[in-house]
Amino acid sequence: MEKIYLDNAATTCLDKEVLDAMLPYMTTYFGNPSSVYSYGRETRLAVETARKTVARHLNVKPGEIFFTSGGTESNNTAISAAINDLGCTHIITSAIEHHAVLHTVEHYCDGQTITHSLVNLLADGHIDLKDLEQQLALQERKCLVTLMHANNEIGNLLAMNAVSALCRKYGAIFHSDCVQTVGHYPIDLQRIDVDFISASGHKFHGPKGAGILYVNGKLQIKPFIFGGGQERNMRAGTENVYGIVGFAKALDLAMLHYEKEAAYIKELKQYMATRLQEKIPTVIFNGDALGSCLYTVLSVSFPQTERSEMLLFNLDIHNICVSGGSACSSGAAQGSHVIAALDTAADLVPVRFSFSKHNTKEEIDHTIETLTALI
Ligand code: PLP
Repeated sequence: MEKIYLDNAATTCLDKEVLDAMLPYMTTYFGNPSSVYSYGRETRLAVETARKTVARHLNVKPGEIFFTSGGTESNNTAISAAINDLGCTHIITSAIEHHAVLHTVEHYCDGQTITHSLVNLLADGHIDLKDLEQQLALQERKCLVTLMHANNEIGNLLAMNAVSALCRKYGAIFHSDCVQTVGHYPIDLQRIDVDFISASGHKFHGPKGAGILYVNGKLQIKPFIFGGGQERNMRAGTENVYGIVGFAKALDLAMLHYEKEAAYIKELKQYMATRLQEKIPTVIFNGDALGSCLYTVLSVSFPQTERSEMLLFNLDIHNICVSGGSACSSGAAQGSHVIAALDTAADLVPVRFSFSKHNTKEEIDHTIETLTALI
């Protein structure tokens, strides 16, 4: 049996059409977009066309899109800009954010000049909006609220408009890590009032090392990387032209085929959930798996036994690629900070299955058969 890849929340394979769009910018069109002669003008045009494509899909102005090296850089940038340029001195976040947010928040918070607090989680892993409102209402400092649109480990979706309304009511800046949703859902930023969002190309069949930061045009922030005048003086450094072209092409394709692909993947997830419950009744679904959740992610936990403890390792031996939490914690059933933050966590072995348009029901059947033998 060939490898079965069920870790699409960690990364996805590059689409052939995306590669085809990128290749000419690795060979024929190699000019530096800052050069004034024709080689430069060709690649400048490619970068600006990509920006317009991305802006069109998010329904924002091209000038509000900044190309970055991915979700991590975008998250870092939004948080540092909120502190350094927008006067935020208190950050409200959650225990289940990606480390690209949590470690950045920890870096800036000294407990005096800059402080932070975690919003409570409900039993199903959703953000407690009442607690968020209470924290915002009581906080005298200017706040940054940074909450992810979808959790990469359990898949829970944030009520973006409700959070946005609270942020606006209490004058807070709102950043959302949308790395797991951009390219997986149509996102219209004229309908979601947000200050910053982050996205990453490799999560939707685009290239690694290419992402965007959306910065609401109403905000005045300073450059985040100093040097040449690239990205309208905000992020210096010669542009990753083929990465940028690939990001835009991947987003274009994802949105073009969204309805069909989302319906297909959703059915796969539902199929796996049903089959798992039939074959391994002790399975527990983490978060709001069958409710307000990514259609691409099914996070489950199995009871801890001598056999299940080595589950990820054994699945790997059987050519099945899954993870125990986020990408960095795969390989061993070691602690995931997201699962640990949920009440259901104790003494269970968490496994995240995450799907793409390339997965099939046969792969799910084979995975369940293997799991049944391994548990
Ligand atoms: N945020 C979330 C929710 C993610 O899932 C990831 C990727 O694992 C990142 C941020 C980091 O993105 P990148 O790999 O593009 O730096």
